[in-house]
Amino acid sequence: MTRMNNELRVIIVGAGIGGLTAAACLLGKGYRVRVHEQASALGEVGAGIQTSANAVKVLYALGLRDELEKVAVRPKAFEFRRFDTAELMHRIPLGEQHEQANGAPYYHLHRADLHDLLARKVHALDPDCITLNARAEGFEESASGVTLKLADGSRVQGDVLIGADGIKSAIRAQLLGEAPVSYTGDVAWRAVIPVARLPAGIMERVSTVWCGPKKHAVMYYLRAGELMNFVGLVEHGQPETESWTQKRPWEELKQDYQGWHADIQTVIDAIDRDSCYRYALNNRPPVDNWSTPRVTLLGDSAHPTLPYMASGAVMAIEDAAVLARCLETDAVHEALQRYQRNRLERTARIVNESTASRGLYRIEDEDEMRRTFQEKNLTRARSEWLYTYDPLAVPLV
Ligand SMILES: Cc1cc2nc3c(=O)[nH]c(=O)nc-3n(C[C@H](O)[C@H](O)[C@H](O)COP(=O)(O)OP(=O)(O)OC[C@H]3O[C@@H](n4cnc5c(N)ncnc54)[C@H](O)[C@@H]3O)c2cc1C
Repeated sequence: MTRMNNELRVIIVGAGIGGLTAAACLLGKGYRVRVHEQASALGEVGAGIQTSANAVKVLYALGLRDELEKVAVRPKAFEFRRFDTAELMHRIPLGEQHEQANGAPYYHLHRADLHDLLARKVHALDPDCITLNARAEGFEESASGVTLKLADGSRVQGDVLIGADGIKSAIRAQLLGEAPVSYTGDVAWRAVIPVARLPAGIMERVSTVWCGPKKHAVMYYLRAGELMNFVGLVEHGQPETESWTQKRPWEELKQDYQGWHADIQTVIDAIDRDSCYRYALNNRPPVDNWSTPRVTLLGDSAHPTLPYMASGAVMAIEDAAVLARCLETDAVHEALQRYQRNRLERTARIVNESTASRGLYRIEDEDEMRRTFQEKNLTRARSEWLYTYDPLAVPLV
């Protein structure tokens, strides 16, 4: 079907990485897009984000290559090290090998840098696209259109509505009801440290996954090597607020990693005392439908994904590219069905494998762990299905 794209009015709820990527992809194809974001200012938290080739292809197609190169770090490998001796237990090459095998580089980015690049792209394509202070409460849908209901009482009319409003999505709640949530048993610490505070050469340009009993930690460089990202994933009995902005005392972080390698102590010691954040990780199982004839979900609202494979935002970026392709070729209802059909299996796999990967980085039975690393051959396994995928070219069924 051919249509004048600018006739279709697209409403997006949420200006996170998923919503902004969708807006940029759709504006680029000539649609009239309006993004409604609850926050009073655009931005992202201070933390790192790993983006593999399958997502970077989309960012490149949006014309962001040069800007990304200025702020990204290209890691040489994932290195899995023992928590106390730093012995190298397993290595997944990234760098040139990842780029050659999968068609684009693997990047480490500061979330705020990626978000800012996407927001500037959207703004350049349409300065009026994003409305802030606009909290969505729900929607009404009819055969001829969809109406977004905002908390201030105003209404926005459109032809299609995309809920990109994250794990606590109001659009999902109306569409699917409240999702069952189960606590994983893990909390995630996050902190960002200026590299100037660390001894020179403390870590190569890699992503180090420190594996230990009942916890692991991940460290990698951000912002062209100026910053170090620290994520600590720790078994913790008491579920707490699921919020990116929940601070906890630095002393608790220090305690969690007591007895771990000196390099980890050096990094933790360099963290600002009032900048330690801790987040409860909850599991939400995949669903088999997230669309109505005129409303769909994208990113974490559709398939909330635990961070153990660093692919939640990557899936949101893929979703955006595939949805834009579907809307271009089909009428709205068929387009949303086709989008969902092409995304359900892949995103469910990432949700399930991410959940299962939690234990991969924990030393319970060390011989078993070493065997798993060898047998699973993570380099090949992930490359085969995860990284080679091209959301811009994959045949759509
Ligand atoms: C510790 C940790 C590390 C991670 N690391 C990685 C990684 O390395 N790589 C990776 O790919 N993924 C990673 N992820 C996952 C990634 O953060 C998420 O998958 C990603 O942010 C999802 O993007 P999104 O746009 O769907 O949702 P969000 O980023 O949550 O954005 C949702 C937006 O919607 C807005 N909003 C919410 N409700 C409303 C409303 N009612 N009305 C209007 N606006 C609303 C919010 O303010 C927000 O701006 C990690 C996650 C965690 C917890």
